[in-house]
Amino acid sequence: MGNQNLEGSWIYCDRCHGKLLKRLPNGILHFVFGKSRNSDGSLSKRSPIDMQIYGSLKIQCFRWECRHTNIVNFFPPVILPNEK
Ligand SMILES: [Zn+2]
Repeated sequence: MGNQNLEGSWIYCDRCHGKLLKRLPNGILHFVFGKSRNSDGSLSKRSPIDMQIYGSLKIQCFRWECRHTNIVNFFPPVILPNEK
């Protein structure tokens, strides 16, 4: 898809393979979580937690049946042709 590079790519939980966070094209990790409501009570498209992370992190899967600890490295696990 043409716009996949603009939106970044998903990083999934090692155990349950649920979506955790996104890696933006510039390498920054983007974490969005939770739902908020508008003043009229309807569900908002915006989330109360929206943060960008420049670096590695350890994140526990937020699915209660999983709770697996995932380690997300800042450098993507990509092997470039000249590193083989
Ligand atoms: Zn999980």
